[in-house]
Amino acid sequence: MSDITKQSLTELVENIENKKLSSTDVTKAFIDRSEKSEKLNAYITNDFTSALDKAKKFDQKPNFDLKLPGIPMAVKDLFCTKNIKTTAGSKILNNFIPTYESTVTENIWNEGAILLGKLNCDEFAMGSSNETSFFGNVQSPIDKNLVPGGSSGGSASAVAGQLTPVTIGTDTGGSIRQPASFTGIVGLKPTYGSCSRYGIVAFASSLDQAGPMAQNVKDCALLHEVISSYDPKDSTSIDFKRKHYSKELTNNIKGKKIGIPKEYRVDGMPKEIEDLWQKGIQYIKDCGAETIDISLPNTSYALPTYYIVAPAEASSNLARYDGVKYGFRAKGENLIDMYERTRSEGFGAEVQRRIMIGTYVLSSGYYDAYYLKAQKVRKLIKNDFDEAYKKVDAILTPSTPSSAFKIGEKTNDPVSMYLNDIFTVPVNLAGLPGISIPAGHDSKGYPLGLQIIGKAFDEQNILNIAYAMEEKINFKNKITDWWIK
Ligand code: GLN
Repeated sequence: MSDITKQSLTELVENIENKKLSSTDVTKAFIDRSEKSEKLNAYITNDFTSALDKAKKFDQKPNFDLKLPGIPMAVKDLFCTKNIKTTAGSKILNNFIPTYESTVTENIWNEGAILLGKLNCDEFAMGSSNETSFFGNVQSPIDKNLVPGGSSGGSASAVAGQLTPVTIGTDTGGSIRQPASFTGIVGLKPTYGSCSRYGIVAFASSLDQAGPMAQNVKDCALLHEVISSYDPKDSTSIDFKRKHYSKELTNNIKGKKIGIPKEYRVDGMPKEIEDLWQKGIQYIKDCGAETIDISLPNTSYALPTYYIVAPAEASSNLARYDGVKYGFRAKGENLIDMYERTRSEGFGAEVQRRIMIGTYVLSSGYYDAYYLKAQKVRKLIKNDFDEAYKKVDAILTPSTPSSAFKIGEKTNDPVSMYLNDIFTVPVNLAGLPGISIPAGHDSKGYPLGLQIIGKAFDEQNILNIAYAMEEKINFKNKITDWWIK
């Protein structure tokens, strides 16, 4: 089979189970394509040799009861992988080899998947374009001038470019959904507490969630089912009954009520995005569901709130990188000098900017005015959603206010970069699940995504709505292979 890498996860699992393909065939195919993908810069570390060994071992003693039998998979380099370098896209962790495995990756390997390598990302997941990585920017398989989005840009490029059948990313303010939208793939940010944060390099602990990125909704549901689990090792993990998301997937969404929030019609939003949204509303109706105009009045405060809360938590989380315990250490004349040099040389500009903002908003005299205030506004944002969900089952919005932008276009203008997260951050602040599905192209042929936001723990519902819409939309990604060596 020459088209192995074109197959969806679901097809690959079926073909391995039916013995039409071996894990070795599949693993080889993805390695071959990954090896030709240098220009994308999607990988930070590859583990191809041992991936092939593992695939051969799997084929000698296959276990078809597993959900991901012998499926190769690359993951974002924010997940700690035992004995394999984990950098978080940063120089400060360039030599960090974890002695333990993150729970979500552990869940994936326990279901039979095989690690292909670690995927590039913005440094400490701070960014919207994958341009803040110490390992260089990632390019989009759609067009060489485009960013793939961020921070899970390597993950998005790898799935869209078919270097891995599916992957996992993390989403603190949009880092799964925005790159998914930019590259024409599906990305799910689960409810806060659904997937364990144990072993994930922390950015902003009250917002971070791991989630699946895939070619289609069914694959996304299957991977979510594997990674979502209660984990006593994460004090914010929630013990609720998880569903068999892929088995229970249905396109019957008749009678569902979908909210359309007027505040998401932001100033300066391109007409193409508004048109896409209108199309989405029509698809919803075609599926037999109903749309209802709703209001989320505090939406405009979400971005400023996020850019206080997230840097505050980041400044505290990143205090651990001092050159003493692990990671990069610069030479200094004394201890304080060593700390300072380590952090100045080890962290990139964006991370330093966030640490400074975070330290400022937490400092005495400013704490009440900024951090505490932001926490209060965060509650108001959550209340808006609670109020809306008295009337609707889910909410439909665009995923991003534009299609993918050009490499370098926003690097000197952090605020314009931050504005790209306008539709995704409210979901993290409220701890809700959100999924981005590819829904069309702009006039340049670049993908555009729609976001479906659900009630807490209602992943099945948004997956179903996404599944029903996917069938109507019938999106075809325009991958040009410009990058193939
Ligand atoms: N782009 C946002 C930021 O830079 C979100 C990042 C994320 O979700 N990890 O903070």
